[in-house]
Amino acid sequence: MASNSIAAHVLMKKGKRGAAAYVHADCSNSTSPQHLNELLDVLLNPGKTIDEWETIDWCKWLIAGGKTPDEFSSIVRRYDNATTCGLVWTANFVAYRCRTCGISPCMSLCAECFQNGNHAGHDFNMFRSQAGGACDCGDTSVMKETGFCDRHGPKAQVNKPPAPNDLVCVAEAVMPRIILRLIQHLRENSKSGVSDVHIVAIQDADQFLTMLHDFSAMGAVMRRVMTGALTNPQIYKNLTECPVADSEYSSYMEESQRVYQEVLKSLPNPEPPDEYKDCPSLQEHLVHRTFLEELVFWTVKFEFPQKVVCLLLNMLPDPDYKEALTQAFVLHYSRISLMLERSTDPDTLSNRVVHVSVQLFSNESLAYRMAERLNLLHVMVISLKYMMSKILIQNSLHDPDKNFHYVVDCGRQVMKEHCYWPLVSDLNNVLSHRPVAVKFMSDDNLLEMWFSFLSLFQGMNVNQRELTQHVEFEPNTYYAAFSAELEASAYPMWALVSHLRDSSTVDLTKSVLSMCLAALQEWLEAVNFTHPGTSDELQVSFHLPLHRYLSVFMCQAVRQQGVPLREVLPPRDLLALIMMHPLRVQVAFYEILSGMWVRNGLQIKGQAMTYIQCNFCNSMVDADLYLLQVCATQLPAEAFLCTVMDKFNVLEWMSLAPYASTHASFLEGEHDAPMLESCLTFLATLMSVRTNLGVSEAPLSQLELVTLLCMGDKTHSQLIELMPERCSTAQSRDFEAVLAEVADYRAPNLEASGNMQQGMYVPRPQVWEKLYDPIHVLLRAVHRRDFQTSMDRFTEYVQQAGKFRGSGAPWPPFRPPAPCHPAYEDPQKLLRSRVFHAAAFVVLHRAVHGQSVSEHVMALTVYLLEMAVASAEPLDPQSQVCQASHSEETEVTDKDLSSFYSSDWLSSNLRKVIHRVRIEPKPAVVFDSSDSEIEWEGADLGEAASSGPVLMLELGAGAGASDESGSSRGVGDAVALVPGTEMVPMESPSPSPPPSALAAASSSEGNDVVAVWGEMVAVGAQPPSTPPPPAPSLTAGDGGPSRPGTASASSPPLPHPTGTEMVPAGAGAAAPPPHVRTPVRAGPSGAQASIAWAGPSGQSTSTDVVPVATPYPRLARARRADVLPSTSAGRKPALRKRKQVMPGSSGSPDALEVNESIISLLLKLHSHLAGTPDSFNPDEPEAAAAATATATATAEAAAEAAESRVGDGPFFLGKLLHRVAALDAFCREAIREARDRLWPRKPEEGEEEAREREAREREERRRRAKERQQKLMAEFASKQKEFMERAMETDEEALSGMDWREEEGATLLASKRDYDCVICSQTTPSTEDKPMGLVVLVQATSVLGHKRRSMDRAPLPTSDEERGNLRRDDSLASEFDRRVEELNMQFDSFSWQLSVNLGWEGGVHVQTCGHHLHLDCLRSYLQSLRSQQRQQSIAVDRGEYWCPLCRQLANSVLPLSPQLGECAAVVRSRPAGLPAIVTEVCNFLKENPPTPMSSSLVEAMAKSMEDMTNSTYHKFKQKSASPTSQSLFLFVSSIARTNLEVELVQRGGSLCQAASTAAEGSGALPGSGSPGAEASALLTPKRSCIVPLLHVLAMHARLLATWPAWQTWQKVAGAGPEPDCAPLALAPLERQVPLLLHDPAALLTQFILLLPLHLDQTYFSCVVKVLYNLLYFQVVAQLSCHLPEAERARRRSCPEPMPGARWSLDAAVALVVQTLEHSQLYLEGSTESSASSAGDLEMQVQQLCLPFLRLAALLRHHLYEQPLPDVTTPQSEFVRLVYYLELVSEGMDWQHFNAAVALNWAYGEAGAARAWCEEMAAFAHRSQVSARNFLAEQHLLWQQPRLLRLPELYDRIFQYYHRRQCTQCHSVPRETSICLLCGALVCLRENCCKQHNVCEAVQHSIDCGGGTAMYLVVTSSYILVIRGKRACLWGSVYLDSFGEEDRELKRGKPLYLSPGRYQLLEQQWLAHRFDHTSKKWVWHRDGL
Ligand SMILES: [Zn+2]
Ligand SMILES: [Zn+2]
Ligand SMILES: [Zn+2]
Ligand SMILES: [Zn+2]
Ligand SMILES: [Zn+2]
Ligand SMILES: [Zn+2]
Ligand SMILES: [Zn+2]
Ligand SMILES: [Zn+2]
Repeated sequence: MASNSIAAHVLMKKGKRGAAAYVHADCSNSTSPQHLNELLDVLLNPGKTIDEWETIDWCKWLIAGGKTPDEFSSIVRRYDNATTCGLVWTANFVAYRCRTCGISPCMSLCAECFQNGNHAGHDFNMFRSQAGGACDCGDTSVMKETGFCDRHGPKAQVNKPPAPNDLVCVAEAVMPRIILRLIQHLRENSKSGVSDVHIVAIQDADQFLTMLHDFSAMGAVMRRVMTGALTNPQIYKNLTECPVADSEYSSYMEESQRVYQEVLKSLPNPEPPDEYKDCPSLQEHLVHRTFLEELVFWTVKFEFPQKVVCLLLNMLPDPDYKEALTQAFVLHYSRISLMLERSTDPDTLSNRVVHVSVQLFSNESLAYRMAERLNLLHVMVISLKYMMSKILIQNSLHDPDKNFHYVVDCGRQVMKEHCYWPLVSDLNNVLSHRPVAVKFMSDDNLLEMWFSFLSLFQGMNVNQRELTQHVEFEPNTYYAAFSAELEASAYPMWALVSHLRDSSTVDLTKSVLSMCLAALQEWLEAVNFTHPGTSDELQVSFHLPLHRYLSVFMCQAVRQQGVPLREVLPPRDLLALIMMHPLRVQVAFYEILSGMWVRNGLQIKGQAMTYIQCNFCNSMVDADLYLLQVCATQLPAEAFLCTVMDKFNVLEWMSLAPYASTHASFLEGEHDAPMLESCLTFLATLMSVRTNLGVSEAPLSQLELVTLLCMGDKTHSQLIELMPERCSTAQSRDFEAVLAEVADYRAPNLEASGNMQQGMYVPRPQVWEKLYDPIHVLLRAVHRRDFQTSMDRFTEYVQQAGKFRGSGAPWPPFRPPAPCHPAYEDPQKLLRSRVFHAAAFVVLHRAVHGQSVSEHVMALTVYLLEMAVASAEPLDPQSQVCQASHSEETEVTDKDLSSFYSSDWLSSNLRKVIHRVRIEPKPAVVFDSSDSEIEWEGADLGEAASSGPVLMLELGAGAGASDESGSSRGVGDAVALVPGTEMVPMESPSPSPPPSALAAASSSEGNDVVAVWGEMVAVGAQPPSTPPPPAPSLTAGDGGPSRPGTASASSPPLPHPTGTEMVPAGAGAAAPPPHVRTPVRAGPSGAQASIAWAGPSGQSTSTDVVPVATPYPRLARARRADVLPSTSAGRKPALRKRKQVMPGSSGSPDALEVNESIISLLLKLHSHLAGTPDSFNPDEPEAAAAATATATATAEAAAEAAESRVGDGPFFLGKLLHRVAALDAFCREAIREARDRLWPRKPEEGEEEAREREAREREERRRRAKERQQKLMAEFASKQKEFMERAMETDEEALSGMDWREEEGATLLASKRDYDCVICSQTTPSTEDKPMGLVVLVQATSVLGHKRRSMDRAPLPTSDEERGNLRRDDSLASEFDRRVEELNMQFDSFSWQLSVNLGWEGGVHVQTCGHHLHLDCLRSYLQSLRSQQRQQSIAVDRGEYWCPLCRQLANSVLPLSPQLGECAAVVRSRPAGLPAIVTEVCNFLKENPPTPMSSSLVEAMAKSMEDMTNSTYHKFKQKSASPTSQSLFLFVSSIARTNLEVELVQRGGSLCQAASTAAEGSGALPGSGSPGAEASALLTPKRSCIVPLLHVLAMHARLLATWPAWQTWQKVAGAGPEPDCAPLALAPLERQVPLLLHDPAALLTQFILLLPLHLDQTYFSCVVKVLYNLLYFQVVAQLSCHLPEAERARRRSCPEPMPGARWSLDAAVALVVQTLEHSQLYLEGSTESSASSAGDLEMQVQQLCLPFLRLAALLRHHLYEQPLPDVTTPQSEFVRLVYYLELVSEGMDWQHFNAAVALNWAYGEAGAARAWCEEMAAFAHRSQVSARNFLAEQHLLWQQPRLLRLPELYDRIFQYYHRRQCTQCHSVPRETSICLLCGALVCLRENCCKQHNVCEAVQHSIDCGGGTAMYLVVTSSYILVIRGKRACLWGSVYLDSFGEEDRELKRGKPLYLSPGRYQLLEQQWLAHRFDHTSKKWVWHRDGL
C-alpha cells in the first residue's frame, strides 16, 4: 500500500495530462495496468468524500488518455453509432407523440427528433411528460421507421467507422473502479436511520453522478464501456470481495459488505405462494451478481433518485444493457411494491418507477422473455395481491354474520393514494403484448391468482342506505373504489380481451371464463348469497369485477370468436344468482336518481354518476346490462320480470285499487311513481340497447356521438373526451367520418360582448329525425337534466322544422331496436310474457284513471307495448279459441300479475276484458294535510273563470264520454256512469261563484281543490253561493264497500268522504283548468287535497307529485281543452265517487269492477290525450294518422311520417293501435267492438253539434283571452328589453356597430343643463352647491407611447435573428425620453416644461359610461358600498364603485361645471379683424380668471384632479426633480392632450373614415375583414367626457399659471408688448426654448385651458390660426434641414410675396433658409436626398401639419359641438380640416391650394416668422448640434400603436420561448411569458425577478404599459392581461384546427393564430376597455 501510493504519487506529479498519457500507453498494452490501479487506489479512496472536484477531474483526464477531456469527448462522439436517440427526460419535459408513426401507444419523441422527422399530416400532439420518459426515435419495436429523424434508425449509422481499439482502453480500466466508488458511497449512506438520508446521499454524489452522465452522453462507444463494467459478474465479484490482506481498505470493505447485507434484509420480499418459491424473482434472499443489480437495488432502496434513474435509463440504447437492466429491475420488482406501500410520497415514487418500467416493458420481446424466464406476470400479480392483502376488511353485504368474504378497505392509503398504480400500469403495459397476454391466459394458476385478486374488489365499498338521518360525514372512499376497479380490473380486462379476436383463441377465452365463474361461485358462497331471494335491499356495492369479466369475456366469445352462447353460459341456477347483483346495482342506481338515497349525501349521487360516466360505462354499466340481457333471455321470462318488478318495488304499485300506492311498505310514498318510471326505463333499456348484442362498431360510435351531441353542442375535444372508451385504446379511426355524418361544424365567432366561442359541432337534422335515441341518452346522461336538455333540443328542432305542430310537447322518440346478433335471443321476448301484459294493463288503467301516471310513464309503456306487438310471433302457438270471449267473467287478483292472463298470447291478452279484480282491504287512511297546496298563476285565473265549463270536458275521456246518451250506460265493460243523477248538476248548472270569489277561495289555505287527471273535485271551503251538490245518492255514502271511481252504476253507494264536500259542477268548472293530467297522485293522502297542476307554462307546480322531471310539460293541455266537446255532466259524479272512495273506513276484501281490456284502455287513453272522444280512427291509414298528428298534410310526407317517431301521445298511441289492429283479425275486431261500446253512434246529432259549437265558441273566447294576455306579456317583455338596452348600454352595442354619436353624444353635449341622477332619479341642473357629476373611470395609459415610426407591425421574435432586429427604441415613448433629456440639458426647466406635453407613457385617460349622479348621492352610495363586507371585486377604499345604473367599473367622478353647455356665451364686442382678436385673447390671458370661490363644486373638482393625479405612477408624473408650478401645469395640461390623442388613436389615427381602413388593412391582420370605419367605431367611446374634463383641468391650470402666459401668446402671434404695435424682434433669451422648438399642440392645450372655455369660436379660430403659422414655419424649417445644400441654395432666392399676396411654400423656404443659413444649422455639404420636386415638399408639409390640425379639429368638435367634417379620402383630410378650422375661409381652385394658403398673419406679413427663425439661429449659435437635432426631428409621423405581430403557428413561439432564460435572472421561468407590446420575457409568478415585493410581470406592466399589459403565457398559450391591480386570463389567440383553445397545451395539437381574437385583444387595449370586459378579474397583489 505504501509503495503503491508512492508510485501513485510519482505518477500524479506528472500532472493530469502527463499521467493520463502514461496510463494510456500502459493500458493499451496491458490488461491490468499496475500503475493505474495504484493511482486509482489513491484517487478513489473511500475515505475521501465522493464529490471531491480534484478526484473527478483526475478521472476525466485519465480517461481522456492524454487529450483534454473536451477533445476526448468530441472524438468519442465521432464514433457514436447509436441508432436510437434514447434521450431521457424527467417530469414536465415537452415531448411529442405521433399516433401515425407509433406502434406502441406509449411512444414518444424528443422535440429535436420530432422536428427532424417528417410528421406532416400525421396525427401527432405535443405533451408535457408526467412521469418522465425517453425518446424512442430509432427504436423499430416502438415506432415505424418512417417517423425516424435522419440521425436515428438502423440505416442512419451504417457508414460510421468503428472506434480505434485504444480509444477507450483507459476508460475500460477505470470505469469499474468508478462504479465501485459509487456503490461504496451508496452503501455507506444507507446506514444512518435519518429519514432524508437518501436524498442527502445522492446530493453528496451529485458531481460524481454528473461525471457519469457526461460519459454516457459521449455516445455508444463510452456507454459500451460503462455497461460492460456494470453487467460483468466477474468484475463485480473481484471488486466487491473483501481483500484478504489485513489493510485499512479491507476492513473498510468488510464493514461495507456488512452494511450491505444488513440493508438487503431490510427490504424483504412478499411471501410467495409455495409453487413459486423457486422463482428467481421471488427469492427471499437477494443475491446480486453484477454492479448493475446492486445499483438497481440501491435505486429501489433510495426510492428511485432522479439522477440515478436517469443514468440507468441513459444507457438504454445499448441493447444488451437493456436486457440486463430489465432483468435486474424484475428481480427487485416485488420489493418495489413494498416501497410503494411504505412511501411517504407515493405519487413521486410511482412516477419514477413508471419512468423506468415503461421503458423496459414497452418492448414486446423483452417483456415476453421476462415473463418466461423470471415469471414477471406472477411477480406482478403476487405483488398486487400482496399489497391488497394487508388492507382487507370483512365484507358487509347481506348478512354480515354469515359473510366471510374479505374485501379491500377503500379508506386505506394504498387505495386512496393509488399506491398500486405503477404495478397496474406495468401489468397493462405488458398485457398489451399479445404473446404475454396469451401466456397470461393460458396459465391457470395465474388466472386463479388473478381472479382471487379481483375478488378482493368484489363487493367493496358497500353503501348502506340511510333512512332516518343524514350521514354525518360523506365518505370519499368511492373515488378509490371506482378507480381501483377501472385501473386494476377493467384495464387489464380490456387488454386481455383485445387479443381474443377470432376462433383461434377460443380456448383461452373459455379458460378465463371457467376460472372467472369458479371465482364468482366461490364469492357467492363466501358472501352467503345462496338464494336469489336473499335480501339485498338498503345496501349496494357498485363493484362487481368478477361479474364484469364474465360478461365481457362471454360477449367477446360469442361476438368475435363465434362461440355458441350455450357453451359459455353458466348453469341456469347459477345464472339466477349471478343476475341478482348487477340487478341490484341497476335498481340502486335508479333509487339514487329518485332521491331515495338523499340521506347518504352527495357522494352517493357521485357513485351513480361515475357508474355510467364515459370512462366507466363500457366496463361497468354496459357489462352489467349485457349480463342482465343474457339472463333475461335465458331465464324464464315470467320469473325474470317478477324479480325485476320486485326489486324495483313496483309490485305494490301494480294495483288497481285506488289507494294501493300509498302503503307500499318499502318505498316512502313519494318514491313509488319515479320507481315505476325507473323500472320501465330499465326494461326499455334492457329491450332496446344493442351495445353488446350485436351492433357493430361504426353504428355504435355513431350512436354514442349522437347521444353526446343531443345533450348539447360540443367542441371536438369534448366529443373525443366524452366518447365512452374501453381503455386508453386509440380513438376509433372512423371517428372523424362518423362525426362528419352526424354533425355540422360551427366555426367560432367573436361575440359582440367579447365572449369568445370555440368551434362547435351541432347535430344535423337527421340526427333529430332518425338517430336521437332517448333511451340511450338516459343511459349515458350523467345528469338527468342532460336528458331534459336533449328533449328540449329535440322539441325545438321538430317545432322549427315543422315536423311537429302540436301545442304540447312531443313524446320522446323511442326507437325500434336494431336486430339482435343471431347468437342471442332477443330480450324483447320478455315482452311476450303475460306478466308484462298484466303490468301494462295496470299502468294503462291507472293512466286512464289518473293515478300517478306521468306522461313519461305512458310513453314508456306504449313504447314497450309497441315492441311487444312488433316482436309478437305472427301466429302465436295458441291459436286456439279466442280467449277473450265476452261471455265469461274474468276476475283477477289485484297485484298478482300472473293471474291476469292464462297464457302469453299477446293477441288474446290485448283483447281480454278483465271484469273484476279482488282487492285487499282498504288501508286506514291518514290524512296528510301538509300535502295541501294550491298554486297557480294568477294569469290563469281569469281565463279559467271565463272558460270554466271547458274544464270538465277533460273528464270526457277519463270516465267515458259516452254518458250523455243514456243508451251507452250499462254496457258491461266499463265506464262508470252513475245513472240519472249525475246529469243533474250539469243540466241545471249551479250558480258559479264569481271568479274573484273563486280566486280568493282557491288561494286561501285549506280550501283545497283536487284536480286529478280526468276528474276534478273541489273540496273544502266551498263558495257559499254554491248550493250543495245534488248527487246525494252518490255522495251520501253509508259506509258500504268502497268502490273505485269507476264503479258502475249498479255498485253500492259510496261512503262520503270525511270532511269534504262536493262542489257542484259549476264550481268545479270555475276552478283553474286542469292542465295537469297526470302526475297528481290520487289516493287517500290526497284526499284532503292537493291540487297540482301545471301553470300555463306547462310545468307542474305541485311538489310532491312529479319527483322525476318528465320531459314534457304535463300534457298538451291547450290542445286538449280546445277540442273537448261540451260538458258532460255525467263525469262529475263519477269523479266524486272516486274521491269518496279514497278515505274511508276499512273494509273487507272486495271485488272491484274493472271491465277493461288493454285495447279499450288504449282507446280511452288515446281519446284522453287527443281530447276528443273516439279519437282513434282505425280506418285512417297509419301514415295519414301520423300526418294529421304532425300536421304534415302532403302525401309525400305521409309516407315518411309513417316511419316518423315525431309526435305526441295520440300519435304514438295511434301507431300502437294500428299495429295491434294489424296483429290479427281478432284484434281488429276487438278494437272496433271496443269503440262501439265506448262511443256508440249518437242519435241526437243536433245536440251534439250544438255542443260542439258551444265548445268552439268557448274555445274561441279562451283563445282570444289568451292572445290578449300574450300580447300584453309581449309588450311587457319588449318594454323591459328596451329598458334594459337603454339602461345597460354596454360594449355590446358599440361593438355591434350602433352609432352612439348621433343620439347619445347629442344628449350630453347639447346639455340642457339638466341631468338625471342615476341614484335618486331626480332631474336637476348642476350647481355650485349641489353639483352633479359624470361617472368616470380614470386610468394610466401608455398606449400613445407605443406608437412607432415604422409602418409595419413589429414581429414577435421567434429566432435570435429576429430578436436582434426587434427595435425597442423607435417608439414615441423612447423618442420623447430622448428629447426631454436634451431639452433638460439645453434649457431651463420652467421654459421647456411649457413647450411640450407629456403623458405618452403613463398618461391619464378618462372615460365615462355617460351616467350622471349627484355628488351627494354618490357619497352615500360609496358609504353603503364601504359598509358592505363583501365587496371583493372592487376596491372601495380606492374609490372604486360600480356605476349604479350600468354596473360598469368607475373610480372617480367629473363634476359638471354649471357653465357647461354655455357655448359661445362669452363674447365681448366681436372684434373686427384678426389683430383685434389677438389682442382680446391676450387680454383674456392677462386677466387669468380670479381664483374661484370655495364651493362644493370646487372641492369636487379638486378631488377629481386628485383622483387623476393618483391614477398614474409617480415616475410618469413629472420629468424633473422637484415640482414647480410649471411642471404641475405640464402634468395638468398634458391630461387634456393625452385624452385627445387617445381619441385620435381610437378613431384610427386620423379623422378620415377611409384612412383608418387603409391603416388597419395594412396592419398585418390577415382575415380581419372588418372595415376600418367599423373598427374605429368599435374603439371610440360611446360618450365623450372631454369637455367636463377640460373644465376640471382648466380650473387647476389657471391656478397654476403664475407666469405671464400672455407673453408667449404675443410672441406666437407676433404682436408687440403693446396692443396694435408693430411686430417686435424677439430678443433671444438664454436657456429659453425658442418658439420654433415649441410643440404647437402643447401651446394649443395651454391656451385653451387658460382661456375661458366657453369663449366664442372666433377666439378659438384665432388661437388655431396663430399656432398654425408657427407650425407651418417649424415644418418648413425642419424640411429645410433635410434639403441638399444645392437645393437650399437654389431656393433661398425666392422673393417674399408682396404684402397682401398669398404666401407660398417657396417664399417660406426662402425666408427660413435666409434667416437660418448663417447659424451653421445646416450641415456643410449635406447631400441628404429628400423631396426633389416641389410637389413632394408640399406633401410633406401637409403630412407634418396634419397631427396638429386633427387635434385642433377634435377640440373644436367637442367644445363647440360642431360635427366633424366628412373626410372620405386621406388626400382630402388636410384641406377639409383647414376649412373646418376656418384657416381658410374663401373657396379656391384646387391648383391654387397648398398649405401656405392657410397662413393668417395678424401683424405684418411674416415678421413673426422671421423673428422665430432668428431666435432659433441664436440658439443654433450656442448649441449647434443640439439645435440641428431638435429641428430636424421636430415633427415626426407616428403610426398607430399596435401589438406585436404573432406567427401563424404557435409552435414557433413555443419552441423559441419555452425553456428560454430570463435576461434578468438567467433562470428558466416555469411560466415563461412574453409582453405583446415589446416582446420582453418575464418571469411570471416567480420570486427570482421580484423587486420590492413586486413580481416581474406586474412591474413590467407598469414600465411598459402604464399599468396595462398583455402577456402571452408560453406554456399555456393563454393571454394574461394585467390591468392596474387586477389581472385576468383573457383567453387564447391561438386555436386548433377545430377552433378550440388548448389551455395549458393539454391536448398539444397544432395551434394557429386567430386573427379575429388577436384584433379583439388589440382593440380592447386601444379602447382602454379591459376593465369593462366580462372576464374573471382577480386581484393580483403584485404576485404575477
Ligand atoms: Zn430524440
Ligand atoms: Zn432521432
Ligand atoms: Zn408521424
Ligand atoms: Zn341624486
Ligand atoms: Zn353608467
Ligand atoms: Zn413590454
Ligand atoms: Zn425575469
Ligand atoms: Zn427571474
